[in-house]
Order: sequence, then C-alpha cells, then structure tokens
Amino acid sequence: VKVRKKVNEMEPYVPGKSIKEIAEKYGLREEDIVKLGSNENPLGPSPAAVRAMEEELESVNRYPESGLQDLRETVADYSGVDAEQVIIGGDGADEIIEVLGKTFMDPGCEFVVPMPSYMYYEYTLQSHDARPAYAVWNVEENRLELDSVLESLSDSTRLVFLCTPNNPTGGLIDKEDIRAVLESTDALVVVDEAYFEFAGVNNVDLLPEYENLFIMRTFSKVMGLAGMRIGYGLGSPALIEYMHRVKPVFSLTRLSHAAALATLNDREYIRRSAEYSIKSREFLYRELKKFDNIRVFRSYANYLLLDIRDTGKRASELAEELLKRGVIVRDCTSFKGLDEYWIRVSVGTLREDRKFLEVLAEIV
Ligand code: PMP
Repeated sequence: VKVRKKVNEMEPYVPGKSIKEIAEKYGLREEDIVKLGSNENPLGPSPAAVRAMEEELESVNRYPESGLQDLRETVADYSGVDAEQVIIGGDGADEIIEVLGKTFMDPGCEFVVPMPSYMYYEYTLQSHDARPAYAVWNVEENRLELDSVLESLSDSTRLVFLCTPNNPTGGLIDKEDIRAVLESTDALVVVDEAYFEFAGVNNVDLLPEYENLFIMRTFSKVMGLAGMRIGYGLGSPALIEYMHRVKPVFSLTRLSHAAALATLNDREYIRRSAEYSIKSREFLYRELKKFDNIRVFRSYANYLLLDIRDTGKRASELAEELLKRGVIVRDCTSFKGLDEYWIRVSVGTLREDRKFLEVLAEIV
C-alpha cells in the first residue's frame, strides 16, 4: 500500500513504559513497582468515580451520549465559564490537540512551541503537514523566553502552544507574558493547563478579553482518571463550535463520561489530591536538595526536573538502574532542548517518594 508521504517519514511516538511491561522485562512483581514516570494521581481514582463506572457498565450496549451537555455544564461550572465554551476530548487532552490540528492546520502552516515542552504537540501536528517554529524555555531560570516566542511568530502561524506549568520543567508562565503573546498574533494561543490545580493559578480570567485564547486541560492528573482518557478545552463559543465540526463524535466512552461527572462532583477528592501532591512535592524537593550531585528545579506541578550530570551517568543509564530496582522515572533525553542528562520524576505517595529516594541514594 502507499501511505501518505508525511506518514512514511514519521517516527512513532513512544510513551513511557507501563508497570506490566517493566514487571515482565525485569522479573519484578507488579505490586512492588513504583511508577513515577507519567505524572499521574498516586492516590487512585475518586471512589465516587469507581461507583459511577460500575453503575454505567450495564448500559455499555448503548452508544455514548454525543452532546455531553451535562458534562459540559459541570466542567463549565468547575472552570468558571459557560457550557458553550467547553469541548470534551475522549482521548484525553491529546485528542484536543488533534482536533486543534484538524481545525487550524492547512499544509505549510506553522505552529510555535517552546523547547523543552510537551512533545505531543509536535508529534500530533506533524501529520497535518504543519511546520514547528521553536521558541525557547529557559531551563536554568525555569521561565519562558517571551522574546523568542514573539520572534517565532509569522504570517503562517496558526497555533502557539504555551504550557503552564511547563512539562517537563515545572515552571509557570507569567500572565503578562501570555497577554503579550495574545496581543502579538491572530493565531490561536493554546495555554496548556494540564497541571494548573497543583499551581493554584490559572488563566481563565483572560478568556473574555481574548478571542484567540484557548485553554486546554485534562482529567489525567489531579482528577485521577488517566486510564479513562478525558480532556477538555475552554474557548470562545465560536471557536468551540468550529472544533465540534471535526471532533470524533463518540470518542468519549460511557464509562469515561460517568467517571468525569462523578469526579467533578467530588470536589473534596480533587482538593485533597491537589493538597496531597503539593505536600509530597515539597517533601521530595527538600530531600533531593540534599544530594550534592543532583540539581533539582522548583516546580508548580506534580513532577520535578533533575539535572543529574554530576553523577557521571546519563539519564538513560540512571533510569535503567532505577527500573531494575522497580522505580519508573522519565528519561528526558527525547525532549527537544534538553541534553542526555535530565530526569523527570513524578510526585508519588510519601511512601513511593521515600522508596525512590532510597533507591536513588544507592545508585548515585
Ligand atoms: N498536556 C500536558 C502538558 C501533559 O503533560 C499531558 C499528559 N502527559 C497532556 C497534555 C495530555 O493529557 P491527556 O491526553 O492524558 O489528557
């Protein structure tokens, strides 16, 4: 068969390994593995979400709701916008990126993405024949280089991705910098707030002022539903209407729909999850500071970025040694803008943090 030229040239995207894969590869028991590789909620899902999914099981012979009006209203209430400003993605926020691609990308168009940042923007948009224009995330100072974003804008720019807190560095983008970008372009500025609950700040207040602002979020982090694949986006009603024209109609399963509603109605779970991960993050940060051959960066999310070059090991080696001992972290070598000496570690339960610290101390 003859696939598209673009697809022929693409490399597959390789996400982090699962607990099952690691257990098999290293001969470990699944229950002994500490997974700190994908920035998930370590406390498990909301019990209300589990009950809601159990109840919904009997209805899975029926297609999902396609309008999702109740969920859009509940997300709107949680976020402080109107229901017609909400779009739900059934393959997580990653589906929202795909829908943005289908809505905005003509062949030859450009999108701006700082480096290092979330890799999936570029991976998804390359199949739309779009060109990346790279801006700079200053890792040392953990802040966006605003000028580099402004300089990357051109007449062909259709999308600008600003991730705050930024994955994998954990730094925040100043609201004034977001404003400056919004005012410098007609392109859609996509502010990725996947981790905003751990930062305690967000940019929803800018939505009424800027038609070219879109905010993207997920149920995979503080909401504890990474396995259910639910994301959402907030924008102007006109933008959301365009995006619905190209969104897959039934991508949100009945179980995901039920789980999302139940979790949003369990505000106490969301609050407790955020509070726990923040406490755990600060513990892990303090403990990592005590290693004299590791540099740890301040983070506003549920992960920490580590510079491990002074250990004399590459990230791939260190990650492999941790894996053998049952701890999964993210080797950041594939992130554009980082060399081969960076590790990202998710914040776990305090017990998981301690196991990571013990194992790390044995290796470095
Ligand atoms: N944005 C950022 C910054 C992320 O880190 C992630 C998850 N790794 C996503 C978006 C996508 O989240 P999901 O597809 O699980 O909703």
